[in-house]
Amino acid sequence: MVDRQTVCCMCGDVGFSDKLFRCNKCRYRFQHSYCSNYYSEFAEPIELCDWCRSEERNSSMEALRRNHH
Ligand SMILES: [Zn+2]
Ligand SMILES: [Zn+2]
Repeated sequence: MVDRQTVCCMCGDVGFSDKLFRCNKCRYRFQHSYCSNYYSEFAEPIELCDWCRSEERNSSMEALRRNHH
């Protein structure tokens, strides 16, 4: 039985599969927690891939701008 191999969307490798998590937002990207640009020892557990994180940042900035108006 061969599962479709899950690779990290950042490094494109299987790497340490126990560090792979599925993004809570797009639900199809997987990423290593240690591959995140936003990774920090003190941050809350990462649940979003970097792609969605940057999108979320952009859209929340957009919302801020709109609210401020
Ligand atoms: Zn990775
Ligand atoms: Zn995502």
